Amino acid sequence: MSERLAVRNPRSGAADYEIPRFGSAEIAPLAERMRTAQKKWLAAGVTHRVSVLQDFVAALHRHQQDIIAALSADTGRHRLAQGEFFGVVGAIERWCQQAPVLLETKDTPSMAMPDVMIGQQLDPFPLLGAISPWNFPMLLSFIDATPALLAGSAVIIKPSEVTPRFAAPIVEAIASVPALNEVLAIISGDGATGAALIDVVDAVAFTGSVATGKKVAVAAAQRLIPAFLELGGKDPAIVLPGSDIDRATTAILRASVAATGQACQSLERVYVHDSQYDDFVTTLTAKAEAVPLSFPDPHEGTIGPLIFARQAEIIAAHLADAVAKGATVRCGGEVQQLDGGCYVEPTVLSHVDHSMTVMTEETFGPIMPVMRYSEVDEAVTLANDSIYGLSAAVFGQDMATARDVAHRLNAGGVSVNDAGMTTMIFEAEKSAYGASGLGASRMGASGLLRFLRRKALYQNHGATVAIDSMRETGIEQ
Ligand code: NAD
Repeated sequence: MSERLAVRNPRSGAADYEIPRFGSAEIAPLAERMRTAQKKWLAAGVTHRVSVLQDFVAALHRHQQDIIAALSADTGRHRLAQGEFFGVVGAIERWCQQAPVLLETKDTPSMAMPDVMIGQQLDPFPLLGAISPWNFPMLLSFIDATPALLAGSAVIIKPSEVTPRFAAPIVEAIASVPALNEVLAIISGDGATGAALIDVVDAVAFTGSVATGKKVAVAAAQRLIPAFLELGGKDPAIVLPGSDIDRATTAILRASVAATGQACQSLERVYVHDSQYDDFVTTLTAKAEAVPLSFPDPHEGTIGPLIFARQAEIIAAHLADAVAKGATVRCGGEVQQLDGGCYVEPTVLSHVDHSMTVMTEETFGPIMPVMRYSEVDEAVTLANDSIYGLSAAVFGQDMATARDVAHRLNAGGVSVNDAGMTTMIFEAEKSAYGASGLGASRMGASGLLRFLRRKALYQNHGATVAIDSMRETGIEQ
C-alpha cells in the first residue's frame, strides 16, 4: 500500500493531509478475517451486539474532541461537525433500542397446511460495504453501518477521499472495543478502493452521486449482490396561494442553505404563486442577506466553505448559465476565494426557468432560484420535471390543500407546511424516486430490516403428503 492520496483543506486550500489508498491486496484478506469474525458476531445474539455498540458509544465519547476536530478540518465547519458527532451517537443509541424488537420472530401456522409451523430466520448479509460521500462524512459512514452491525453483519466503511481525516480517531475508538474491532473496519482510498471493496462484499450501501451510483449498480449487478443506493437530488418547494410567507421563507431558507447547501435533500428550486411572488422574493432575500459566512473563525457564522473545490466550479457554472439566460441575482451570486477557501453567500435568484441548469441539475450550494407560476397544476408539473425524486416541500394556507399537492409529487419524502423534515425525523420510511436512489428505505424499520435475508423454516408437525394424494390436497395444480 505504497500509494498515498493528498487531501485538500477546505478552509486553507492547502493539501495538508494524506491517506493510503487501499487496494485489493489489502481488502481481500481483511474481508476474509471479517467474514470469520461475523459468524461469532451473529451467533452471540443481538443483546451482545447492543452492549458492544453501547461500549462503542462510550469509546466515541472518549475520542469526542479528536473526532470533532478532525471532522471540522475535513468539512471546514465546527457547529455542524459537533452536530454530526452527536447525530451518530444518537442514531446508535436509537438503533440499540430498536434492534432487539425488530429482530424478534415467532413461528406461525401456515394457512395452507395448518400442521406446518412457519419459522422465519432473519439472516444478515455477512459482509456489507458502506461507501460514503464528503458532505456529511461521519454521519453518512455510520447511517447504514450501524443498523447493519446490529442486524449481525460485519461492515467495511470506505469514506470519501475528500474528507477522510475523521476516520483516524474513530479507528482508535473502534480498536478500544475488541469485539467491534473484529467486525467493523474503515479503509481509505478513492473510487478505485470503493470498486475493489464491491468485489469482496455481499451487499453494498452507497451514498453519493448519480454518476457513481450507476457504476456501483453495474458492479453489484455483475456480482449479483444488492446495492442500496442513496443518490442526489434537486428538491423542489411549492408555495401555494395564501401561504404564510414568513413561515415559508424561514423554512425554505433553512432547508436550502443549511450546510452551505451541501446536502442531498437541500431545497434547490422554489415555485411561488403569482399572487405572492414579489412578497416572497423580497422577504426571502432580506432573510438570506442576514445569514453570515462562517469566516474566518469556524466557530462563528453559518455558511462554511465549500468542501470540495470542484463543487465551487459547478456552482459558478450554474450561476453564470442562469444569469446569461436572464436570471436576476437578488443577493449573493458569487463564489468568493477567501484565504484559499471557496465561499458562496446565500443566493436568491428570480426570473428563472427550466432552460437553466440551476433549475435542473444538482447545484449543491446555498442557491435559491425562485420561479413564478399561475396555476397549481403548472407548479406540480414543474416540480415533477426532474430526473430526481428525493424529497420536496409544499406550503399552503391549510394542511389539507398542501397535502393534496404533496400526494402528486414524485418524491420519497414531502414536508408539508415545513421543509427539510427528513433531516430531523428518522422513523418514517421513504423511498427514493427516480434517479435519487434504489432499494428499500434507509429510514424507519426497513433501515435495518433491509440488511436481512428471510429464511423460511417449514416445520411439519403433521403427516407428510404422499405422491398419490397431492391432487386431493390441492398441492398439485
Ligand atoms: P461521489 O459519487 O463522487 O463519491 C461517493 C463515494 O463513492 C466516495 O467515497 C468515492 O470515493 C466513491 N467512489 C467513486 N467511484 C467509485 C466506484 N467506481 N466504485 C465505488 N465507489 C466509488 O459523491 P460525492 O461527490 O462524494 O457526494 C456528493 C453526492 O452525494 C451528491 O450527489 C449528493 O446528493 C449525494 N448524497 C446523497 C445522499 C442521500 O442520502 N441520498 C446523502 C448525501 C449525499
